[in-house]
Amino acid sequence: MTRISMFFWGLIGLVTGSWLLSDSLWVSPFAYFPFRHVFVQYSGLLAVFMMSAALVLALRLRTLERWLGGLDKMYRLHKWLGIGALVMATLHWWWAQGTKWMVGWGWLDKPVRQGAKQELAGLEAWFRGQRGLAETLGEWAFYIAALLIILALVRAVPYHLFRKTHKLLAIVFLPLAWHSLILMEFRYWTGPIGWLTLIVTVAGSVAAVLLLMGWPARARRVTGEIVSIIHYPELRVFECSVRVGEGWQGHKAGQFAFVTSNESEGAHPYTIASGWDPGSRSLKFVVKELGDHTRRVSRSLHEGMKVALEGPYGGFDFEDDCRTQIWVGGGIGITPFIARMNVLARKPDGRNVYLFHATPDISERALNKLRADAESAGVNLVVRCSKTDGRLTPQDIRDAVPDWSQSSLWFCGPVAMANSLFSQFRKWGVPNRRLHREFFDMR
Ligand SMILES: Cc1cc2nc3c(=O)[nH]c(=O)nc-3n(C[C@H](O)[C@H](O)[C@H](O)COP(=O)(O)OP(=O)(O)OC[C@H]3O[C@@H](n4cnc5c(N)ncnc54)[C@H](O)[C@@H]3O)c2cc1C
Repeated sequence: MTRISMFFWGLIGLVTGSWLLSDSLWVSPFAYFPFRHVFVQYSGLLAVFMMSAALVLALRLRTLERWLGGLDKMYRLHKWLGIGALVMATLHWWWAQGTKWMVGWGWLDKPVRQGAKQELAGLEAWFRGQRGLAETLGEWAFYIAALLIILALVRAVPYHLFRKTHKLLAIVFLPLAWHSLILMEFRYWTGPIGWLTLIVTVAGSVAAVLLLMGWPARARRVTGEIVSIIHYPELRVFECSVRVGEGWQGHKAGQFAFVTSNESEGAHPYTIASGWDPGSRSLKFVVKELGDHTRRVSRSLHEGMKVALEGPYGGFDFEDDCRTQIWVGGGIGITPFIARMNVLARKPDGRNVYLFHATPDISERALNKLRADAESAGVNLVVRCSKTDGRLTPQDIRDAVPDWSQSSLWFCGPVAMANSLFSQFRKWGVPNRRLHREFFDMR
């Protein structure tokens, strides 16, 4: 089980376990309305816990990032928590609101309240007095949150639009947290679920406020200056070197940074394609023109221009105990391997390394650089041009690496290529812990 699955299911287990100490889904008599009452509580708590955890993850805390194996994995978890929250909140909303509608349509008969209305006092009476407002706030916040989460999941929505609208979820969380605390069954406060809900909603609210204040970018930003740019028009790629200011604490090969060249566009993540050298303080980025921003930026960057950097992030750090490492860089996914070769050229680690670079286009200039990097790092380089030589297959790798079964595999490139490679290596018995990949995608 991966760490992100452990976190996801662990959170569900924690909510379920502590809720079951105070309540149950097995109501007696088992009928629609008694079940609705407990299910609305349970689904609401699950939704708010997931949303809170997603907000805390968005703070990009270094300890959490290390534990989860990198920011790309952290954002994958953030996305699954968002989907989970949307599903649970929709169920919660339907059982709460849909039931009222179904009673109105005559599909359900509302049970007659038995006995005299209980007089409440003190804190419980105060909580009861807030219910109307909490219900209305919760309902509207749910509609907005659902819309924002759907916008985030629909790939057709451009990234820049998603990025701007997604921030609004931090605002919407605040009324949802309030809704949960007020409408949670009052007797839960005497059990662990009550206090856990308080802690989790406060943590989520603090995270929401920090995110709205521009954290973590504001706290971790370092200024840099572009010192050189080289274009490879045949690849639609450019290479840019940036000298970073004193705030940059160094990085490991394979890590990445968020780079902002234009405030209105915001930060984009790029792998740092060079090792850390405190003398030059220079970071290299190799960027493919994959969309609007990267196309525009390739023309607008110039030497002496100031950029902002945030990082380093990522857990794609080549650390394992295998004597042989297989590296596969698909297209622009070659960048972390360039950085690692840069480090190995200065400080060899004694491993056998095979680097497979699969690319549709070839530039002799870029290829000569890659060959020179591989030679100085003592890395066996295999370049496969998919247009002329066909696709790189798992069998090609197996044939080229004598001890492939004892090796680790480090992959960066298209998701489909990673999936087919990893599934074949798994079938051949290579354990998951030896298969590493970097996602070039955070959505
Ligand atoms: C960890 C990581 C490392 C990366 N390293 C490199 C690299 O070394 N070289 C390189 O050329 N590319 C790299 N990328 C990809 C690069 O970030 C995107 O290609 C670039 O942001 C595309 O922007 P665009 O507006 O031109 O394209 P669009 O067409 O707008 O976006 C294409 C895709 O890029 C992603 N993307 C766009 N904007 C952002 C953003 N602000 N933050 C996160 N993802 C975004 C989205 O998935 C989007 O669907 C990396 C991505 C990640 C996540």
